[in-house]
Amino acid sequence: MKNIYSNIYKPNLFNLNKAKKNVENNNVIGIPTETVYGLAGNAYSNESVKKIFKLKKRPSINPLIVHFKDFNDLKNDVILNDSFKKLYKKFCPGPITFILTKNKRSKISKIVTAGKKTVAIRIPEHKTTRKLLNILKFPLAAPSANISSQLSPTSASDVVEEFGNSLKFILDGGKCKIGLESTIIDLTTTPTILRTGSISLKKIEHVLKKKVKERKKIFKIKAPGQLKLHYSPGIPVEMNMKYPKKNQAFICFGKKSKNGKNYFNLSKKGDLKEAANNLYKTMRKIKNKKFKSIAVVKIPNTEIGCAINDRLKKASFK
Ligand code: AMP
Ligand code: MG
Repeated sequence: MKNIYSNIYKPNLFNLNKAKKNVENNNVIGIPTETVYGLAGNAYSNESVKKIFKLKKRPSINPLIVHFKDFNDLKNDVILNDSFKKLYKKFCPGPITFILTKNKRSKISKIVTAGKKTVAIRIPEHKTTRKLLNILKFPLAAPSANISSQLSPTSASDVVEEFGNSLKFILDGGKCKIGLESTIIDLTTTPTILRTGSISLKKIEHVLKKKVKERKKIFKIKAPGQLKLHYSPGIPVEMNMKYPKKNQAFICFGKKSKNGKNYFNLSKKGDLKEAANNLYKTMRKIKNKKFKSIAVVKIPNTEIGCAINDRLKKASFK
């Protein structure tokens, strides 16, 4: 199919170099990852990072995740500990973000970390973004490529839907393999999950061979109400519903579910991974079909189902 968007670029060598030039010049660009698309800029540059916050309309108290190529690149910016080394070995590159203490000699912009002494770091697996990191001399600060509190993008055209022409360059890495944001684990204290994702608490406990806590609260909310509604399609979402109301879109799951014009099945075969991958895409479709609200059937709260329910809970916050 012909690319109808002038700001989406195929991930060939020529365009990877264009992407490199863009971030070197402090511009922000869209990048693919295995979780969701990111809005990326030079993590060492205040100018670049300010543009990310502005374009996303992100509150300045909400720090960004910094993306690195590998272990060797991290040492100057964060203090590595044993738990990190074990989890790195098992899960990286992959869909997991670590909160670590910032190294005193780190060049990461204070704006990235919202002035904190900690940094959120991730080593993404997507081959296009790895190729880009490989040719850069700095890590990339990259939150999800969406307007703050709205749905995360899982394809390059979703990113265009979010920012239109105000984002000039997006690397096309196809559809995201996972489609939900990374698991976030704080390793500066007793290991604590701050955000659930495809790498579950159980898998992490298995590697660390110790109990891992889970923070139910969405991080320290310094400005009341600011970060509660998240992952939102911009219309009301109701969870654990058996049926839709009149004119309501219904997100269902599994083979027993009925069909209908307003029915959107996340996975006919009842596969939670497939459901996770379809969640944002489906909510985007419903929003674009101009439905006024969404009812969602009860989703099993196991494995990645926990991450689906976490996102739905935040999307349904009133
Ligand atoms: P996003 O970039 O929107 O996918 O979300 C990343 C999440 O990581 C945000 O909710 C941040 O609050 C959290 N985060 C990023 N950096 C830090 C940090 N240094 N300490 C604690 N949480 C962080
Ligand atoms: Mg986000």
